[in-house]
Amino acid sequence: MPSTDVLIVGGGIVGLATAYHLARDFPGRSVTIVEKESQLAQHQTGHNSGVLHSGIYYKPGSLRAVNCRAGKAAMEQFCAAENIPYNICGKVIVAVSDSELPALAKIYERGQANGVKCEMIDRERLHELEPHAAGVRAIHVPEAGIVDFPAVCRRLAQRIRETGRQIHCEAPVRSIQQNHDAIVVDTLAGEFEAKYLVTCAGLQSDRVARLSGQQIDSKIVPFRGEYFELKPEAQHLCRNLIYPVPDPNFPFLGVHFTRLIHGGIECGPNAVLAFAREGYRKIDFSLADTMETLTFPGFLRLARKYWRTGLGEMWRSVSKRAFVQALQRLAPEIREEHLVPAESGVRAQAVARDGTMVDDFLIVESERVINVCNAPSPAATASLNIGRLIVEKLTTRWK
Ligand SMILES: Cc1cc2nc3c(=O)[nH]c(=O)nc-3n(C[C@H](O)[C@H](O)[C@H](O)COP(=O)(O)OP(=O)(O)OC[C@H]3O[C@@H](n4cnc5c(N)ncnc54)[C@H](O)[C@@H]3O)c2cc1C
Repeated sequence: MPSTDVLIVGGGIVGLATAYHLARDFPGRSVTIVEKESQLAQHQTGHNSGVLHSGIYYKPGSLRAVNCRAGKAAMEQFCAAENIPYNICGKVIVAVSDSELPALAKIYERGQANGVKCEMIDRERLHELEPHAAGVRAIHVPEAGIVDFPAVCRRLAQRIRETGRQIHCEAPVRSIQQNHDAIVVDTLAGEFEAKYLVTCAGLQSDRVARLSGQQIDSKIVPFRGEYFELKPEAQHLCRNLIYPVPDPNFPFLGVHFTRLIHGGIECGPNAVLAFAREGYRKIDFSLADTMETLTFPGFLRLARKYWRTGLGEMWRSVSKRAFVQALQRLAPEIREEHLVPAESGVRAQAVARDGTMVDDFLIVESERVINVCNAPSPAATASLNIGRLIVEKLTTRWK
């Protein structure tokens, strides 16, 4: 049985960033990644908006705030050093009515507290930056950007492999046993023995954490985010990134316009309950996944509280006109015929038993196991710092 110091489950950006730091900073330690798909970064990391978030939204001092700030700086440095396309193009968060001004002011305060370079701007300045955006006032965040996260993952994997560390694809974890001095992980590609285990399994993170013996109170609820792309003749309607003022009750940012690093403008994502954890199409359905969600008391409590918002999101999913109306609040000239459907993503959102959505990153630890149980946006931006943090946690164990 192959033996390794650290076994990492999950070849998304968080697992890869962790392995990268280990391989680079601890040449004497062996590291192995097991990934269930045939290629890396096939789930959240390969299906997101590609935005380098500034950290403006998050509660000061939270893991999201701290890791986003440090992770963004590290990601920019990595991309610059490795010649990976990224662009600090700036973004605007737009209040479209006076009623949104207090929430906009709160975001601005958070930005200040988190050390984000941002400026409150009036309608005239907004129109200089985004001539087709509506809005009575906005926050300009010049340091927000866009990047190619899959390219980042390919390079991280290359750097990990160059140091002789192994990445096994098509190796879904089936069971995990802890013995006195080792952990045995059974995968479809064979068994692995490890001294330490790190799990970064995204949409399956709660299941894999439970397999590893961790008692966790939350469950992953999958929320699909659907996108459209602007046809070339409408792409002049957005220069960079145009975001609404988000609903403070939800961890999602609301449908927005995103310039893509390789050209084109994406619109979305909405946030619809998915009936399969890896259900990228509206028709995807898994009885096991759906039953697990619908019988979880945390989900039932969440649904009871927010059923109206949920129905609104579902309506925007089936009605293109409703989706366009949401976009028209930000850019009134957008028409249904400007949009073509694009690929969806599915967010892994941990929901606690009491019905609250786990807002912050959640990392649960035991003696030899570290489970990443909630790594929602901006975890791609923050990944290099999350990886560094996990490695710090490991080093306290082997000192
Ligand atoms: C629609 C959408 C838009 C987003 N936009 C942004 C954005 O603009 N900027 C940003 O910073 N973040 C964004 N995010 C969030 C970001 O994509 C995620 O936070 C990040 O990708 C999480 O990375 P991860 O490695 O934890 O998870 P994932 O990328 O989901 O990787 C988990 C991996 O674990 C593997 N795995 C699962 N189970 C097993 C098993 N049993 N055995 C082996 N392997 C297993 C999976 O196959 C997968 O490859 C967005 C997310 C979504 C869905």
